[in-house]
Amino acid sequence: MSCVKEQLKGEVKKPVVDLKDPLRSLNISGKDIGNMIYTDLLPWSKNGAEETKMFLDQVMNILYEFMHKSNDRSSKILDFHHPDQLMEVLDLSIPDQPQNLDQILVDCKDTLKYQVKTAHPRFFNQLSNGCDTISLAGEFLTSVANANMFTYEIAPVFILLEHVTLKKMRDIIGYENGDSILCPGGTISNMYALLAARYKMFPKIKSEGIRAIPEQLVLFTSEHSHYSIMSAANVTGIGIDNCIEVPCDNAGHMLPEELERLVKEALKCGKKPFFVNATAGTTVFGAFDPLNAIADICEKYGLWMHVDAAWGGGLLLSKKYKNLRFKGVERADSVTWNPHKLMGVLLQCSTVHFKENGLLYQCNRLGADYLFQQDKHYDISYDTGDKVIQCGRHNDIFKLWLAWRAKGTEGYGKQMDRFMELTEYMIKKLNAQPDKFWIIVPKPECTNVCFWYIPERLRKMPHSQEKERLLGQITPILKGKMMNSGTLMIGYQPQGKLPNFFRNIISNQAVREEDIDFLVDELDRLGKDL
Ligand SMILES: *Cc1c(COP(=O)(O)O)cnc(C)c1O
Repeated sequence: MSCVKEQLKGEVKKPVVDLKDPLRSLNISGKDIGNMIYTDLLPWSKNGAEETKMFLDQVMNILYEFMHKSNDRSSKILDFHHPDQLMEVLDLSIPDQPQNLDQILVDCKDTLKYQVKTAHPRFFNQLSNGCDTISLAGEFLTSVANANMFTYEIAPVFILLEHVTLKKMRDIIGYENGDSILCPGGTISNMYALLAARYKMFPKIKSEGIRAIPEQLVLFTSEHSHYSIMSAANVTGIGIDNCIEVPCDNAGHMLPEELERLVKEALKCGKKPFFVNATAGTTVFGAFDPLNAIADICEKYGLWMHVDAAWGGGLLLSKKYKNLRFKGVERADSVTWNPHKLMGVLLQCSTVHFKENGLLYQCNRLGADYLFQQDKHYDISYDTGDKVIQCGRHNDIFKLWLAWRAKGTEGYGKQMDRFMELTEYMIKKLNAQPDKFWIIVPKPECTNVCFWYIPERLRKMPHSQEKERLLGQITPILKGKMMNSGTLMIGYQPQGKLPNFFRNIISNQAVREEDIDFLVDELDRLGKDL
């Protein structure tokens, strides 16, 4: 027993264990782990190896149980409580005294008890869901290694894995050389693209700031694009009024002729267009902007072309869908691609890729002496830390690399084709019941299925704007019923003139046809009387 434990011993109070949910006995090989405290484990206790293993085995059991339930179709996706109710049922307070390991395990259990099971095959709510087992193993390893990604010095294998994996992704995009970086999310990836584009055109921005650019910069993105583009305009000091929204067709594709008209208009007003964001897989409709047509305009006016494939990027791994959706992507100057979406890599894992090598480094390098010494005894081109605007960087590569190793590129291609097959299946199912479902995008280009559910009382009414308004009122009520019943989760939102509608996402490898069948029936069970 360590001396720290001795000091603390008198103060330890036996915590109240939730009797409704008693833990299995923790008494293994004669040792009662439950009554111990953190000082009995590594690294506090020099001899705590066995206790540590026993404790972590118990934690793993709790995690296995959650994973098992997540994949059990008869279990609920969530046990919904309002915030004030949840505050009441959980003790979330930070105590003055150490809690014993029994309590720590109860804390783990209770936390998962009220957590939404995002890996449940009937959770269709978000672009990131599922729990890929190999990626999970990668995440565990990542945490045990606990390495910061700024230098080769402290993360040698992980840095090499970044090198190899990001190069592979650039090969798939069609970049011969180039450079890439992993970012904390697609929003930040998109901002990196904007920063690099601005630096490329106005290198003085780095030393002199905004005033180095005499004209007003403007950028263009479609009205269906992700709000992170506007966020980047805000954060970089360009201003959201200078992020110009380009109109789309009814299926959510940017209209290139509108883009050109708006570029000309900005030039006429004395502004400086410099950046166009094309979306490959819009967040709501899943639409792919016409990349070649947009690339032509960018070439003609000397604009940086970025492709935001945060959502649709996974389809690059399918030969079929790369061909169908990504023609011209190699002409872009930069591409955002989130493995934490269609590829099912655990959160977070986002990448941004550049056609030009060296730009990231020039744009962001500050050369902090204490990290990036120039006289190290190894090849310092492997120190990636000075390419980014962060200092420390989380290791997001290992879980991606390991998942990709396990599946191979072919396995990933099959995963994408399967998601698209299930999407077509769902469209077919909804089409078979036109009295109950109104499909908004009849031919989805990604796994987004956008639709209204029609309750009985509105089924005879011909489709009209007034009917859409009524359906838009029903959508959030039906979502509330889903969450209260805990059986199904589908996201909803308005888009432009369209009032609230459901957007169903398939990006979980657990989803099967039977889940789509269930979804269709469950919507009707919960919604027909609304
Ligand atoms: C999800 C998404 C983003 C933002 O990615 P985060 O990782 O959530 O920051 C950007 N663009 C598109 C098209 C997206 O779907």
